[in-house]
Amino acid sequence: MSKNPFFTEDHDSIREMARDFANRTLAPIAAEIDKTEHFPEEVAQQMADLGFFGLKIPEEYGGLGLDMRSYISVMEEIAKKCATATLYISSANSLSTAPIVLSGTDEQKEKYLPGVVEGSSYICFGLTEPNAGSDAASLTTKAVEDGDDYILNGRKCFITFAPVSSYAVIYAKTEPEKGAKGISAFVVDMSLPGVSCGKHEEKMGQRGVPVSDILMEDVRVPKSCMLGEKNLGFINAMKTLSVGRIGVASMCLGIAQEAIDLAVNHTKNRIQFGKPLCKNQALAFMMADMETKLNAARGLVYNAAWLMDNGEDATKAASMAKYFAAEAAIEIVNKSLQLHGGYGYSQEYEIERLYRDVRIASIYEGSSQVQQMVISSHLLK
Ligand SMILES: Cc1cc2nc3c(=O)[nH]c(=O)nc-3n(C[C@H](O)[C@H](O)[C@H](O)COP(=O)(O)OP(=O)(O)OC[C@H]3O[C@@H](n4cnc5c(N)ncnc54)[C@H](O)[C@@H]3O)c2cc1C
Repeated sequence: MSKNPFFTEDHDSIREMARDFANRTLAPIAAEIDKTEHFPEEVAQQMADLGFFGLKIPEEYGGLGLDMRSYISVMEEIAKKCATATLYISSANSLSTAPIVLSGTDEQKEKYLPGVVEGSSYICFGLTEPNAGSDAASLTTKAVEDGDDYILNGRKCFITFAPVSSYAVIYAKTEPEKGAKGISAFVVDMSLPGVSCGKHEEKMGQRGVPVSDILMEDVRVPKSCMLGEKNLGFINAMKTLSVGRIGVASMCLGIAQEAIDLAVNHTKNRIQFGKPLCKNQALAFMMADMETKLNAARGLVYNAAWLMDNGEDATKAASMAKYFAAEAAIEIVNKSLQLHGGYGYSQEYEIERLYRDVRIASIYEGSSQVQQMVISSHLLK
């Protein structure tokens, strides 16, 4: 039996496998990935071969068909050593495939999912636009019917994996006057005439993943590329993000755990005023707070995953998990850096990278304020 009531022995086994891979393969190269902004293709392929890209993809499409708790167990362990690597896993299991798993036809699933699972193709998730971030429903990319096709025009921004993707799930207005109820989802072939990527985004953290704009100028896509029903695209996007949020939250758990481990190690070994730093009660109590917040976050994240695995509505739970875990992880990493003193500010120390890697957690896949909107709207309905 697992020592944690939320998990089974099967979850523990997959967690152990991910931890082993993170320690042996990712830990030695994480700093180099950050510095060069290059994630080795062979390492991504190893993750695909271990099944990490298909954890949640149904078996008939090449995946392992596992549950949310298996997915978050892998994400948490991988995040301890390389936050960038978690994006390869979360993209494959969540943002790039969930829209297709949720709304795609059998034919679409057969066409798009196996390549992602095998690591031979990437699909990106194109919702955000320059003037539509938190208010995603105000997007202005248009899809206009023309015979058997739709013509797409618009610009998406901050799209993770866009420059290396074979396909993009694009959310576009099919009936603009209907607002959120006039948005449809399309799988767009990135090699079609009229599709191009903007400049490479120079990011603060998680630098081993390419991010760019996607520009669409009179892109003609067959009607068969629509995902699900016309005008139901926004629901598809929101459901996808609800799943994605638990992934981000589990990434936060891993980063925060690593930050605490680093703080404990550093403060036990660094001598100031004739004794280890950790012998100062003020610093020991700071670490007590960090540990308590991390474990509170764990409870929220594991509970949200458990609810999903048991078919319960986990929308509010996922938002609470993402909100709390992101804010807690940012605070924990910040405090760990403080405990490292000047060394924490040096790029030679891992905590400096964690500080940059964790900062995005309260922004993407719904900022902390957007999570507060979701939580309060459930509370006040
Ligand atoms: C590295 C990175 C990768 C990303 N990857 C993707 C991707 O793959 N696909 C994709 O579609 N998008 C992606 N995004 C976009 C991301 O989801 C958005 O940046 C995010 O939703 C916030 O939107 P915004 O940046 O326009 O900020 P804004 O919406 O302009 O918000 C700015 C600030 O105001 C707050 N705010 C906004 N409205 C309110 C309100 N009503 N009440 C209170 N506070 C409010 C926000 O919380 C935020 O703190 C990515 C972004 C980054 C930085």
